[in-house]
Amino acid sequence: FNVPTAVNEPIQDYAPGSRERELLQSALAEARAVEGDIPMYIGGKAVHTDKKGKVTPPHDHQHLLAQYSIGDKTHVQQAIDAALAAKPQWENLAWEQRASIFLKIADLIAGPYRYKLNASTMLGQSKNAYQAEIDSACELIDFLRFNVNYMTEIYQQQPPVSPKGVWNRVEQRPLEGFVFALTPFNFTAIAANLPTSAALMGNVVVWKPADTQVYAANLLMEIFREAGLPDGVINLVYVDGPEAGEVIFNSPDFAGIHFTGSTAVFQNIWKTIGNNIHKYKTYPRIVGETGGKDFILVHGSADAEVSSTAILRGAFEYQGQKCSAASRVYIAKSLWPSIKELMLRDLATFKMGGTEDFGNFINAVIDERSFDKLAKYIDSAKADGSVEIIAGGNYDKSKGYFIEPTVIVADDPKYITMCEELFGPVLTVFVYEDEAFDDILTTIDSTSIYALTGAVIAQDRYAIEKASNALRNAAGNFYINDKCTGAVVGQQPFGGARGSGTNDKAGSMINLLRWVSPRTIKESF
Ligand code: GLU
Repeated sequence: FNVPTAVNEPIQDYAPGSRERELLQSALAEARAVEGDIPMYIGGKAVHTDKKGKVTPPHDHQHLLAQYSIGDKTHVQQAIDAALAAKPQWENLAWEQRASIFLKIADLIAGPYRYKLNASTMLGQSKNAYQAEIDSACELIDFLRFNVNYMTEIYQQQPPVSPKGVWNRVEQRPLEGFVFALTPFNFTAIAANLPTSAALMGNVVVWKPADTQVYAANLLMEIFREAGLPDGVINLVYVDGPEAGEVIFNSPDFAGIHFTGSTAVFQNIWKTIGNNIHKYKTYPRIVGETGGKDFILVHGSADAEVSSTAILRGAFEYQGQKCSAASRVYIAKSLWPSIKELMLRDLATFKMGGTEDFGNFINAVIDERSFDKLAKYIDSAKADGSVEIIAGGNYDKSKGYFIEPTVIVADDPKYITMCEELFGPVLTVFVYEDEAFDDILTTIDSTSIYALTGAVIAQDRYAIEKASNALRNAAGNFYINDKCTGAVVGQQPFGGARGSGTNDKAGSMINLLRWVSPRTIKESF
């Protein structure tokens, strides 16, 4: 079980004048200029259809980057058939061969494809260079390399006892059937991880990415193929969700879903699977990461600079479109004036615009639907006398879907934007009396329908301990004196419970264990 020991991929900073910046800029220029026709990939074949979707940058929605082929139910069935046809050979391939393919994908992305993939993420999903780098380069590479390490650890786990005359062993078989990977727009790394982690463990996959992530998904598929992934192991389809679901969830060979997306969609899928449970050969694995309404709690003993930086980065990096993003903040009254001043000072320096200009920290939100939803929340806050907007509040979709980073101060910890998931650059602050720390802990826990991430900022260890205890079920990833985003593979396994998912920790052995169906063998001599 000798595999290269995974270490975290270093982050490139794209400093002005650096060779890396030049390479990324030319990759961006090239990606903007080439208007492609993106196919689906079924059984290794590129499939084009007459029905086309458009790929446009969210920050420049009139610019056509590419069009892509939209399939229907027939294509989903073909993808299932292709996956099942590839299965016998794939699952019988030595694990080293499978590992090699995924390590090669990691190397291709760390090397020749880094800039092109980052450029695709920057243009297709409106991420700035840093946000693209930590996603489609570093996190993606880390997922692949660390998963290979975790896989070998899983394969080595064996029953500790074999009495005389007996050999007990466990074989980590892949699931019987195919896995469906349904992936989100907000992380290229997640889009890659959901199909590849299941495939690494010997499974075959039908993969449907969000239609706002097609640009990077297509390049990923090309890289998988270049690395030697056999035809049919991962099949990429662009089909309307409910239409795809009708075929997938009615198939007797459906063996599991690896999902990241909204809570509502996940719950519907779960119900559908429940209704169809008698149709399947085996109980399907249901693994999902869903919504979040993540908090930062600032205690009266906190450092104001640390608090302000954690809040602004947690709330506004990638326009708040991370499941982990800070969207409700509770600040002790004694610290609020200084934290407010620091936040307003730094917010004034945030530039907003397209991703091609590296000076822009804030880019566009993903699409018109998201823009309209966020604008509505902002409008109703403007019209509500009980809340105050202290920063931002403007929006404009004429060229791109731009929403200013907006800070609302509410006098009720149950104000709508303190409770509902917005998925955008809108942060709500509630200022609590320093003496009411215990009460605020109860309020946070009782309003945590989701439980993905949360942070406490404090220097008082008793306060940290109290928060850690009271909020133990309110966040699957709990941060002390840090922002609540940016989990690193191999360092902070990621996922939450309650309305946030099945907590099968992305980037960990726990997740990979969901993609095997072990067989125990007892042999007597
Ligand atoms: N893992 C990411 C983070 O820690 C968030 C993933 C997501 O948005 O789904 O920020």
